[in-house]
Amino acid sequence: MNPQVLVCGAGPVGLTMAAELARYGVGIRIIDRAAQRTDKSKALVLWSRTLELLDRSGCSGAFVAAGHRVEAANLIAGDRRVGHVSLAAIDSPYPYALMLPQSETERLLEAHLASLGIRVEREVELAGFTDNGEGVTANLTRADESAETLTVDWLIGCDGAHSTVRHTLGLPFGGETLRSDWILADVHVTGMKTPFDELVIYFHEDGVLVLFPITPGRYRIIADVGRSEGLAPADPTLDAVQRIVDRRGPDGLHLSDPIWLSAFRINERKVETYRAGRVFVAGDAAHVHSPAGGQGMNTGMQDAFNLAWKLALICRGTVAGDRLLDSYGVERSTVGAQVLTAASRMTALAVIKNPAAQAVRNWIGGLLFGLSPVRRTMANTLSEISIGYPHSPLTGPGLHGLDGPAPGERVRPIPDQAPIGEGAMPRFALFGRPDPAIDDLLREHGDLLEPDLRPPLADDSLWLVRPDGYVACVATDADVGRIDDYLKALSR
Ligand SMILES: Cc1cc2nc3c(=O)[nH]c(=O)nc-3n(C[C@H](O)[C@H](O)[C@H](O)COP(=O)(O)OP(=O)(O)OC[C@H]3O[C@@H](n4cnc5c(N)ncnc54)[C@H](O)[C@@H]3O)c2cc1C
Repeated sequence: MNPQVLVCGAGPVGLTMAAELARYGVGIRIIDRAAQRTDKSKALVLWSRTLELLDRSGCSGAFVAAGHRVEAANLIAGDRRVGHVSLAAIDSPYPYALMLPQSETERLLEAHLASLGIRVEREVELAGFTDNGEGVTANLTRADESAETLTVDWLIGCDGAHSTVRHTLGLPFGGETLRSDWILADVHVTGMKTPFDELVIYFHEDGVLVLFPITPGRYRIIADVGRSEGLAPADPTLDAVQRIVDRRGPDGLHLSDPIWLSAFRINERKVETYRAGRVFVAGDAAHVHSPAGGQGMNTGMQDAFNLAWKLALICRGTVAGDRLLDSYGVERSTVGAQVLTAASRMTALAVIKNPAAQAVRNWIGGLLFGLSPVRRTMANTLSEISIGYPHSPLTGPGLHGLDGPAPGERVRPIPDQAPIGEGAMPRFALFGRPDPAIDDLLREHGDLLEPDLRPPLADDSLWLVRPDGYVACVATDADVGRIDDYLKALSR
């Protein structure tokens, strides 16, 4: 039997998508034209919200065990520390940035996928496809030059920045390539005085330098190096990186044993539409941005978490209609635009070259970082726990003066409670006080609701929470009909 969904691309986003769909019992195949996973550290940070979502899938423990926790970020200008942001205040069971090379993240995701009985088909390329409204016919080619025509209900392009799926759909990838070149080095460093669980950003008159701890003694270094001639900047030598560190960083650092030396330019681009008929794009296929803030991979993986439960409800026939699937693009395009803007602003501040403007930046930065609400907002934004969908078409009504999360907001995972949506079917959770009318509701919507009522989140209200942990709507105890209406409207 043909699978229902073809996932094109087995980077972190495709692997997350495939694992989520597989655990919800959707028939899938996942292909990648590359012979093997990346061996590069590329995206280094797993943020709190991504770990919370991996927890629902039952696999966050393996990531936490393999990664290194960074608990604070420092901002140094000249020889002065102008900012220190503690990540411990992040309101999550994962109050830190988990440093884990992307190669490891992909290894763990692939192992999780294998535990669900799905294997990545490597050296299989999506050459093209057509969507006739009833299904998608995909043309696959193999490294041995054999070919296959596969028909599926849905195709998801998780095929990276140069996405075949996006190109075939003709989706414009609007944006620009920034006018600065960057170098990246994964190296061993001795002489670092900053605690190993803190990252450091140095603002220097030449440009920015950032040191991220990866594993004991090993760091990721990135720095902007102005604009070079040519189509692509040349990879740096270890000596060149050492010279940059000597000039912009603290005294006494010694670099050795490079694991990866590279150079890159920053693209800031995004599609407007994440869905065309029976085809979706997610991750770098839909948005690319500056690595400032380490949001790219996290945002892409969260695209996957968002789409998977919706598509699973459709594939399993629990919900019909387009409204649910259309909400994927509305919700994630808004988040993608916010992430792109924030990363762009951070990058623009980091690469200021005018000395007077640098002085103003450093002074204002010092003032702002002195304010604890600013530090808290920054930590909550970076960790992506402040992401919500207040303006989504899926977000229902709330209550005035509500004590507790409002519609569209994330529900913080509750200690000792099973994660919302962890089961084999995507289900909404209902939080409230026991009542016969609620028992009727749980029975009537048994295919959409977790069987057991959970304790109220705050006062005497009823919270309906989506399988991905965001509040769908809130009603008074007496207004069970509001929840009923919401669930019935999902099939529109
Ligand atoms: C140098 C560098 C540093 C980075 N640093 C960070 C960071 O610090 N933080 C962060 O969050 N992000 C960072 N990123 C970005 C991060 O790596 C990406 O956001 C992430 O890899 C996107 O995942 P993805 O699964 O969407 O795409 P990819 O990882 O690009 O995976 C796409 C996959 O699709 C496959 N594919 C493509 N076309 C086809 C086809 N036609 N048929 C079959 N398979 C196909 C490819 O082989 C590939 O395996 C960095 C990237 C680079 C290059």
